[in-house]
Amino acid sequence: MSFDIIKGMRTTLKNIGKKPTTVSYPEEERALPARFRGRHVLHRYENELERCVGCYLCAGACPADAIYIEAEENTEENRVSPGERYAKVFDVNLLRCIFCGYCEAACPTGAITLERQYKLASFYPEDMVYHKEQLLEPKGEATIGSSAVWFDPPPPEAAQPVPQENHLFDGSEASAAAVGLGNIPRQEPVLLVDEEQDEDRRKLGQKKEEGKA
Ligand code: SF4
Ligand code: SF4
Repeated sequence: MSFDIIKGMRTTLKNIGKKPTTVSYPEEERALPARFRGRHVLHRYENELERCVGCYLCAGACPADAIYIEAEENTEENRVSPGERYAKVFDVNLLRCIFCGYCEAACPTGAITLERQYKLASFYPEDMVYHKEQLLEPKGEATIGSSAVWFDPPPPEAAQPVPQENHLFDGSEASAAAVGLGNIPRQEPVLLVDEEQDEDRRKLGQKKEEGKA
């Protein structure tokens, strides 16, 4: 018997009788950590209107470019959300998603949260793009989600998932603070690498400032 086999047997004997660290999935499932972030859910208000107002903030915050939205205007005949617009198309590409939770942190209306669904396997990549119909809570269900968006105590103006009156993102300071946009300095436009084009842009900028363009 080689030394390697003896070494292996020693490890086996050492662990005999110990409680296994594995579970027999899928019959048995592990308890998820409190802050687990699984598949996204789009939420509704209790009056069944959709929380999402099609503002694109989540898509803008997403580092993986995993969210695709097409917004549409609400009309009195077809009111889907309380805001001016709603998301007609809302896709999340779960193959790109890194489950960071930035989208839920950016959302001003608490419309999107990462919940506890993790059984997301598929044979086909296209099935991993989840559409609004799959993500949206059914009518009659209006939850605010179980994920903790704020790890530290939030500032008073951001202490609830729907921080603005009328449930609208109104561009106010409170809204900006609530979605983590407060005090972000305005970015200067990035000039192109090409010197000639840079020069053209500078000239155009100057003309605009002088009111000639
Ligand atoms: S969890 Fe992160 S990566 Fe996934 S969609 Fe949201 S922001 Fe993008
Ligand atoms: S940030 Fe919220 S309200 Fe805005 S588009 Fe995304 S889910 Fe909808």
